[in-house]
Amino acid sequence: AEPAPEAAVPQAGTPTLTLLHRIGTVDPASLDDYRAHGGYTALRRAFELGPAGVIREVTDSGLVGRGGAAFPTGRKWQATAAQPDHPHYLVCNADESEPGTFKDRVLMEGDPYALVEAMTIAGYATGAHKGYLYLRGEYPRALARLTHAITQARTRGLLGDDVLGQGYAFDIEIRRGAGAYICGEETALFNSIEGYRGEPRSKPPFPVEKGLFGKPTVENNVETLVNVLPILTLGAPAYAAIGTGTSTGPKLFCVSGSVARPGVYELPFGATLGELLTLAGVREGLRAVLLGGAAGGFVRPDELDIPLTFEGTREAGTTLGSGVVMAFDDTVPLPRLLLRIAEFFRDESCGQCVPCRVGTVRQEEALHRIADRTGAAAADDIALLREVGRAMRDASICGLGQTAWNAVESAIDRLGAYE
Ligand code: NAD
Ligand code: SF4
Repeated sequence: AEPAPEAAVPQAGTPTLTLLHRIGTVDPASLDDYRAHGGYTALRRAFELGPAGVIREVTDSGLVGRGGAAFPTGRKWQATAAQPDHPHYLVCNADESEPGTFKDRVLMEGDPYALVEAMTIAGYATGAHKGYLYLRGEYPRALARLTHAITQARTRGLLGDDVLGQGYAFDIEIRRGAGAYICGEETALFNSIEGYRGEPRSKPPFPVEKGLFGKPTVENNVETLVNVLPILTLGAPAYAAIGTGTSTGPKLFCVSGSVARPGVYELPFGATLGELLTLAGVREGLRAVLLGGAAGGFVRPDELDIPLTFEGTREAGTTLGSGVVMAFDDTVPLPRLLLRIAEFFRDESCGQCVPCRVGTVRQEEALHRIADRTGAAAADDIALLREVGRAMRDASICGLGQTAWNAVESAIDRLGAYE
């Protein structure tokens, strides 16, 4: 099949951007062009700083994970680097599967060498000599461009036994996912690489201690890794000055739905939801905005002053997640939309634990009953949904089951979806 068209990047080529500045400007197939656009200055800086110096910069920058969970990256790197057990592994989680998320795809397709460089730096800092890039199977263009970039980097001594003549060995292997949402969960991803079923493991132990093949492993999202480049080229203080005190740096947002200009946008943390939607050209008749994807939650049109920061969205009782902003106008039938979300979770549950395996089915059944009654909910359906939702949130092994009720709950409580 033909690959899907490239994702829209309305700000492409804008030189003042930090993460997207090469997108639409650099030739993604050319290592020379990447270098001409500032490529590989961050890796040189990393070799000057040494592993501990790199971890210090990343820690001081305040960078937290951009996959959705916002865990401090410097802490993760430090914890892995300190493990006496060897080998250490680096895993880049590029299994971007949250509905509405396509930012990592834009980075990988438009600026593939940036990810190769960033993975090399992360490997160097944490004492890993092998990096796995676990790529969503439905991203054939990213696969082709990354494969080319890795081969070129190897040919030119930027990967391999002696990176940049610095005596450091590092290489990257791409593994493709096969369409399962759960394989983006970090420990299910390890199982998938190891050749087992993609089922999450219980945590702790955390991957920093026992990860891939039972060895200390740093696993980072694509966008998280790409942030390491400006941290090293600008320096931690200048990077930390972007955004807010507790959500530092720039953030990519995936805007879709009822907007005139859907696509990936870069804004410093702290811009409001309303500012982002204005950039994207929000349409008349806005009914709701889904933040954070299917695992996230809905907000109302009168809540557009929510600051797009991890703490701001948390205080507003919602989540930033991986940066999904899906706008729905009043032509969208909410009961059908919620049913679609419930079907997704029922489909994608790995079935390993009862609360999620059974709960996602019960949730879908209740939403079906409601949708069949053209959206009118009986009180006992809502009570059942709440009970099942609580059980999934409290007793599921992994984030899938724990968040499978978020969107429905927020639609009931914030949007009055069935009133
Ligand atoms: P989590 O909070 O369990 O962990 C976040 C990261 O921090 C993990 O790498 C974990 O190993 C690490 N960590 C946590 N505590 C630690 C400790 N004490 N020591 C060392 N490391 C520690 O969250 P999660 O289940 O990994 O991720 C959930 C998030 O994933 C949600 O926010 C959701 O939005 C997001 N998500 C994203 C996508 C996507 O496509 N980007 C898809 C599904 C879910
Ligand atoms: Fe599998 Fe769901 Fe349990 Fe996660 S919560 S381990 S997806 S059954």
